[in-house]
Amino acid sequence: MADSNAAVDAKDAFDVIVIGAGPGGYVCAIRAAQLGMKVACVDKRGAAGGTCLNVGCIPSKALLHASEHFAGIAHFGEMGIGVEPPRLDLAAMMAFKQRGIDGNVKGISFLFKKNGIEEVHGMARISVAPQGGSPGCVEVALLDGGARSLRGRHIVIATGSEVAQLPGVTIDERRVVSSTGALELQEVPRHLLVVGGGYIGLELGSVWRRLGAEVTVVEFLERITPGMDGELSKQFQRILKRQGMVFRLGMKVAGIEERNDRLDVTVLPAAGGEAEVIEADVALISIGRVAHTEGLGLEAIGVGTDARGRVRVQERFATDVAGIYAIGDVIAGPMLAHKAEDEGVALAEFLSGQLPHVNYDAIPGVVYTAPEAASVGAHEEDLQADEVSYRVGKFPFVANGRAKVNGTTEGFVKVLADAGTDRILGVHILGADAGNMIGEAVVAMEFSASAEDVARSCHAHPTLSEAIKEAALAVEKRAIHA
Ligand code: FAD
Repeated sequence: MADSNAAVDAKDAFDVIVIGAGPGGYVCAIRAAQLGMKVACVDKRGAAGGTCLNVGCIPSKALLHASEHFAGIAHFGEMGIGVEPPRLDLAAMMAFKQRGIDGNVKGISFLFKKNGIEEVHGMARISVAPQGGSPGCVEVALLDGGARSLRGRHIVIATGSEVAQLPGVTIDERRVVSSTGALELQEVPRHLLVVGGGYIGLELGSVWRRLGAEVTVVEFLERITPGMDGELSKQFQRILKRQGMVFRLGMKVAGIEERNDRLDVTVLPAAGGEAEVIEADVALISIGRVAHTEGLGLEAIGVGTDARGRVRVQERFATDVAGIYAIGDVIAGPMLAHKAEDEGVALAEFLSGQLPHVNYDAIPGVVYTAPEAASVGAHEEDLQADEVSYRVGKFPFVANGRAKVNGTTEGFVKVLADAGTDRILGVHILGADAGNMIGEAVVAMEFSASAEDVARSCHAHPTLSEAIKEAALAVEKRAIHA
């Protein structure tokens, strides 16, 4: 299927050139290759996996996993397991995290080889758009110093996102860090100040809290996890507070100054008022992420962006320029790895003539703290704003047998169902293993299940997932164990 352009060396001619080897790009490359296309995937990082694998999902989960064990040892005594007070070897924990990253990076390179995808390490710029049957051109400044000119019938922009900057604050990745720096700290800070109460700030705040830091979260809004169900957010915040996190909601950071190896962080009420200074050793700036398009040459070839700098796409991920597509964090929508992956698969299938779809109403979001918070679909505030008539079924983990013996009774499952049709509109879980359990709700919603469907599906006993069944029963006010 590869393009043949007499002027171009066959080795540089491809059906699809994917720029960015993150979850969007590498998955798109693999699916396109499975469908018989000749594919190159270019990344300037020198390692596949993008933000997610190198400085995002995977390293943060490695540290969450390790720090959860570290903190969990305090409860071993309750189960009759005697242990010495735990000792932290942070360097070894960081090495554990790095092994996880390296193993996964190797895994993607293996998949590239297996599928005949050419992995190119370098910075890509689109110089010529595909036009009227002739291929487009991507110039790559190779990491080893050379250059390559690739030709492709289709060009996919999957260049992801980067950290959003806080105006007036310079991230030095030493004391004022982004998530990348917060995953690499060489010692446990005495006081970590987290700017932003979204999932990244809460996850990384949890890691360092468990390892011994005082953690203060400064959030502009009056609530944490703004994209999640309000009731869940409130209870979530209470639990994190019990774990020792301090929340300063409705506050904004006006400036950060380094003084004698400490930071003076000036905060003031978002609504206006007196400023105050909070001392910290490290400040984590986690106020969000922005689309990454720098150096791609988009303006010159006419690929437009929206007001937030994201590549503008229409149906089927098509940009303003024929033959050039965009997926993942670089376009609108939740900045999540699985959303990027699903778009990657769908785009490859479109390119091969299939008619796939991405169901944006059923994309789960998870905060991997302990307990975890996981959501899919609408939350109550959405439904109220849209004047949808709905019913709520709620079930607390304190009434779930497995949660009781595990000692993980915090949280609940909430099922929101249409009052007329009983169709599930949203599911929100706060509790241990919520990130795994939300998968059931996603599948139910994908198949337009009613709460009754879930309530009548047999759930293994004793499992935490029985709480989902009970919450579905509770929609009809007939939960058995509550
Ligand atoms: P990216 O993964 O950002 O990949 C883009 C790639 O493009 C990069 O490797 C970059 O080097 C490359 N690139 C950019 N420009 C060029 C160019 N001109 N030439 C060549 N290469 C280029 N999401 C989840 O779903 N679950 C999580 O638990 C989760 N945890 C996260 C934790 C942290 C700390 C962070 C920062 C993010 C987390 N995310 C999580 C978000 C997730 O990482 C992103 O949604 C996901 O990586 C987006 O995938 P992508 O393929 O669109 O882009």
